[in-house]
Amino acid sequence: MCNGKFDVYSIDEVLRVSLQVVFPWKAYGSQALVSFALESELPSESFSLVAEEDSGDLRKESGQETLQRITKLVNDTLVSDGSYSVPTLTAEDVLRAIDTGKSEGGSHGRHWVLDPIDGTKGFLRGDQYAIALALLDEGKVVLGVLACPNLPFASISGDSQHSSHDEVGCLFFAQVGAGTYMQSLEGSSPQKVHVSTTENSEEASFFESFEAAHSSHDLSSSIAKKLGVKAPPVRIDSQAKYGALSRGDGAIYLRFPHKGYREKIWDHAAGCIVVTEAGGVVTDAAGSPLDFSQGRYLDLDTGIIVTNQKLMPSLLKAVRESLDEKNSSL
Ligand code: AMP
Ligand code: MG
Repeated sequence: MCNGKFDVYSIDEVLRVSLQVVFPWKAYGSQALVSFALESELPSESFSLVAEEDSGDLRKESGQETLQRITKLVNDTLVSDGSYSVPTLTAEDVLRAIDTGKSEGGSHGRHWVLDPIDGTKGFLRGDQYAIALALLDEGKVVLGVLACPNLPFASISGDSQHSSHDEVGCLFFAQVGAGTYMQSLEGSSPQKVHVSTTENSEEASFFESFEAAHSSHDLSSSIAKKLGVKAPPVRIDSQAKYGALSRGDGAIYLRFPHKGYREKIWDHAAGCIVVTEAGGVVTDAAGSPLDFSQGRYLDLDTGIIVTNQKLMPSLLKAVRESLDEKNSSL
């Protein structure tokens, strides 16, 4: 934070530190570190964090060994990073840092929103995952950072060549009104990114969840068919999809969770601003913008669709038709 403005570069550091504990201890270590770093960076504010994890399991007898390991790793990471010269954190400090994320969010004031490891299934498979941090101000997303440690730095679009030596690890960050930037997690200089400008849906490749349980692949296939999309779906875990879309690797992202699933704000807040600041549009299936002001959950119509401004009208039409067909066949 400098002069009351949000300094996205210091957030970059926060994410970089948190990444070091994500590998062995996944979400808890990441949440403890991001929470600790944010509270240290923002001492004078009334601090609110809406985050996915809580310390419930770590406080049980069966969680004690894991808690000790996480505490050691959090301390080791803070020492090796060197940004914060603080006394060694106790296990209780780490539990408290994790539980700082219990805020309910809402439409007033500022709330940080964190998914400490988004796409756990992808992480465990060795595929894509992301650490996603956003800031809400009066219910609107004003800042977002997405760290995607396994996403190739070069485009993953079908016409790009890849080799096993390609650099991986991307950091996307966006501030309202200031565009979206990407840099490598190794720290290359940030470059501005923009969504695909294609107006031709036949040429547009589309992203969806790797996990069929998270999003109906049948429905997206029906929508893609109506649009004349030729390329097969690109299936990626986590908000890495938003990052890849923000730099034009694909032109459409379709997400249709199965009946009864409620989307959480930490699964979309950072990704949403990363795409919109890169010139894209994120809506629910009815074409309404996502509303992050209602607490920990998103209240939306049927699904989430993402594309550029030119393709959105035809995408919405195809979505409506496919949903109508699906509903009339039930
Ligand atoms: P993705 O890899 O894009 O499918 O997104 C991963 C996120 O999906 C996870 O962080 C979960 O919060 C969320 N998720 C978990 N279960 C479901 C479900 N049944 N339907 C939709 N999303 C889910
Ligand atoms: Mg998630």
